[in-house]
Amino acid sequence: MRTFDVAVIGVGGMGSAACYHLSKAGLSVLGVDQFSIPNTRGSSHGSTRILRLGLHESTKYVPLVQRAAQLWDELGEQCGQTIFHRIGSLDVSLPDKAIFSGSLSACERCDIAHEVLDRAEIRKRHPALMPEPNMMAVFQPGSGFVAPEMAISAHVNLAIAAGAEIHGHERMLGWTSDAGGYLVTTTHGQYRTRHLIITAGAWIGKVLAAAAVPVQAERCVLGWFSTGPNSAIFSDKKLPVWIVDSEELGHFYGFPAHGIPGFKLGRLREIPSPAIDPDIPRREADREDEDDMRSFVREIFPGANGPVLSMETCFFENTPDRSPIIDRIPGEASAWVVGGFSGHGFKYSSAVGEIARDLILRGECNFDLTPFRLSRFSNP
Ligand SMILES: Cc1cc2nc3c(=O)[nH]c(=O)nc-3n(C[C@H](O)[C@H](O)[C@H](O)COP(=O)(O)OP(=O)(O)OC[C@H]3O[C@@H](n4cnc5c(N)ncnc54)[C@H](O)[C@@H]3O)c2cc1C
Repeated sequence: MRTFDVAVIGVGGMGSAACYHLSKAGLSVLGVDQFSIPNTRGSSHGSTRILRLGLHESTKYVPLVQRAAQLWDELGEQCGQTIFHRIGSLDVSLPDKAIFSGSLSACERCDIAHEVLDRAEIRKRHPALMPEPNMMAVFQPGSGFVAPEMAISAHVNLAIAAGAEIHGHERMLGWTSDAGGYLVTTTHGQYRTRHLIITAGAWIGKVLAAAAVPVQAERCVLGWFSTGPNSAIFSDKKLPVWIVDSEELGHFYGFPAHGIPGFKLGRLREIPSPAIDPDIPRREADREDEDDMRSFVREIFPGANGPVLSMETCFFENTPDRSPIIDRIPGEASAWVVGGFSGHGFKYSSAVGEIARDLILRGECNFDLTPFRLSRFSNP
């Protein structure tokens, strides 16, 4: 039976970064994913993921995203491709709403470069965007987007070059522990490992059902709309990544045109949102999804109100408080769960891989992981 220092279960955003940092540190690493690497069946596809430095959600994420941005730049240099595109970000809402006020406060408190734009200035600089009356924006020049498939591929290629063994189309069926570590059973065989890391994304709640780890899958839809003759104002020269929170139309986020043709956007819904079984094929994106996005596009980005070009479904991997879990699995000496990033985690994944390495090597890391402990759900 093959023996490894570490087995990483799930080679998506978090798992690929963990495999890279662990193998670069000289450990023998097995990474297994039930699907292709990368794939379009989890949470890490669709060509772009927003990276904001001043996060409206909470300043607790700022050190993590700052380290992640450095690591994305380093990864890009190593693989010779741009992975983090620093094209700026806009957080747009009425001034008393969290998107604007939370982002402004995070930028001020953490000394992150930013500008405050009123509606007229937004219109002047970013003609594609038609904010509602009285909306304001926080512009952050150091933010932008990460290319997720490219990031996973770069981490995996470099991990393999450093000696990691990565298997696609191999599903973990279960694991048991003993004095020597863990025995992992997959569809293809059994492996011994001293340490185990579960990075199974939207499947974590199922994979760790016995430990009652509260991660649930939510079906989300991304859409790409044709900009017809207006493509110039939807290029990354004229439009950064954006979030717009409208009382009437909903909370949407999106990107300038990149990779896949068209103007890309998606919707963020409040939790609790309907949880689904990630093993049951997702309902395909349909006319109802298109209509939902179009009512927003028509008002806020009217230049992109053309035919839909693509739609994709994807999973959010939600925890009850929409904050991630990075912790030891209860009762285990060296089995860890890393996930539940609840629809905002890709940006951090480069730094999360480094954290996984430090937890395995030292049992601790340079970040305060208290907010991400599992115990918060039992002792709120
Ligand atoms: C529509 C959408 C938009 C988003 N927008 C943003 C954004 O703008 N910015 C941002 O930072 N984040 C964003 N996110 C969130 C971000 O993409 C996720 O938080 C992140 O990708 C999660 O990574 P992960 O590694 O946990 O999951 P995944 O990348 O899905 O990886 C989990 C992997 O585990 C594998 N797996 C599961 N069970 C098993 C098993 N038993 N055996 C083997 N393999 C298994 C799966 O096949 C999968 O490949 C978005 C997510 C979605 C869906």
